[in-house]
Amino acid sequence: MTAFGPEMAVLTQLAPGVQRLVAPNPSMMTGPGTNTYLFGNNEVAVLDPGPVIDNHLNAIQEVAGARIRWVIVTHTHPDHSPAAAELARQTGAELLGRTAPEGEHQDRTFKPDRVLEDGDRLLVDGAEIEVIHTPGHASNHICLRHVELNWIFTGDHVIDGSTVVINPPDGNMKHYLESLARVQDLRPAALAPGHGELIRDADRAIDWIIDHRLEREAKVAAALKANPGLTSMELVPHVYKDVDKKLYGWAERSLLAHLLKLEDDGTASHKDGRWIRV
Ligand SMILES: [Zn+2]
Repeated sequence: MTAFGPEMAVLTQLAPGVQRLVAPNPSMMTGPGTNTYLFGNNEVAVLDPGPVIDNHLNAIQEVAGARIRWVIVTHTHPDHSPAAAELARQTGAELLGRTAPEGEHQDRTFKPDRVLEDGDRLLVDGAEIEVIHTPGHASNHICLRHVELNWIFTGDHVIDGSTVVINPPDGNMKHYLESLARVQDLRPAALAPGHGELIRDADRAIDWIIDHRLEREAKVAAALKANPGLTSMELVPHVYKDVDKKLYGWAERSLLAHLLKLEDDGTASHKDGRWIRV
């Protein structure tokens, strides 16, 4: 590990041609900060440069500088993509990813030179990188698979030690669960998340997330049955008994995502924002 500059950005070599720099944006939502990954040695692809933070942009350039050919983003949330345009401007790199959808919490400064599609393959300094479209946390979310290592770089699809917010309408719980199964089916040797440490037991980590989501869904279904006609916000204390009131706003987003999935499954419906079980 190497430390850079006053903010002490930490560089970790994870595998040959795979390095990680943690952006100095720790918070409740981002854990230790956003992980920026660098693929390649002679020519470099940067994944998720994070928010615009000069020290972090300098650290990325100190590591890879003129060798940066591509800047890729997993999705266009404010903690992942805003530095991409700036880094491309400074290095002439090509911007790759998927366009930001309409709605809140989207970084519209990210405008890809090339829109990545599911199944696209990039050759980065001899390493093959495959694109997996994984909607759920965000509709434009992609994961990247380093084919030789069979590691999957998961952005916010899977993060280390916590669950992510599924915020409708761009976040979609049904798609999220389908995308988790899709990643699990690839039997990855490791998951390299957008926040936190490398996850070596991918299968177990994904099982835990799926179990956790389905448990929560069962709680939502039970709360709905016991309390028909409530709004999603009114249902929060019935489902998230353990959650601090300050977090009810976020809890409501996840709860609504579960309700919309139940509606899609044909077991819940709503009128004027009031939900019942059917
Ligand atoms: Zn995100």
